Amino acid sequence: MAGGSTDPGARCRAGSVREAASARPAPVTGPVRIGIFGGTFDPVHLGHLRAADAVRRGLRLDRMLLVVANDPWQKDSGRPVSPAEDRYAMVVAAAREFPGLEPSRLEIDRGGPSYTIDTVRELHAADALAELVLVVGADIVPELPTWHDAEALRDAVVVAVVERPGAGARTPPEGWRFVPVPVEPFDVSSTDLRRRVANREPLVGLVPAAVIRCIERSGLYVAGG
Ligand code: ATP
Ligand code: MG
Repeated sequence: MAGGSTDPGARCRAGSVREAASARPAPVTGPVRIGIFGGTFDPVHLGHLRAADAVRRGLRLDRMLLVVANDPWQKDSGRPVSPAEDRYAMVVAAAREFPGLEPSRLEIDRGGPSYTIDTVRELHAADALAELVLVVGADIVPELPTWHDAEALRDAVVVAVVERPGAGARTPPEGWRFVPVPVEPFDVSSTDLRRRVANREPLVGLVPAAVIRCIERSGLYVAGG
């Protein structure tokens, strides 16, 4: 929680406002192709980052946004989600090691529940011709029809599915346009990372070093939950 006399996110954010500038696309001739990799990122980890980067390269996307959910309304893990600014600060720190990945504040700045269709509409308002690729792990695939305004979302995006260890192969729901993207499986989850921090277990090799520093400075996850 952000309460108390300190703002853990601020320590993590210090010197990390490079955001977005370096990830601007080179000029293109056809429609700009934008990947949307949404997540709670509580915390971001190498499973997210490697998958996003592999899809960006594999589908030759012009941009790949790491869209930090403001309020992941469907998430029901029985614990409060960490403050959005803390989660965003970790994504900014992580993206330094992945120059093609672009942290996005769209959902945080919009506020309220994070509906991917609103993000899609915002991107299309900025560029009506942009081709939008929604990147999801295989565990998310069956949930897509339950997302807010799912039919509009289905008609607006192509879904790139990346393998997720333990998720198995999922049958795409009827009517959605899917493209599987081969990604070397990386078995890590934010849930496991939070547990590791609470148990004082190392995070090395699972998240970028800069994110480990953020977590250590902020005190996030120490109390478990
Ligand atoms: P939590 O354990 O809190 O649910 P998470 O690791 O699943 O966290 P999310 O923020 O829920 O991370 O997931 C965001 C997106 O990243 C989802 O589409 C999810 O399928 C995908 N994803 C998460 N971890 C991996 C991974 N190791 N490999 C591939 N995709 C992943
Ligand atoms: Mg998850």
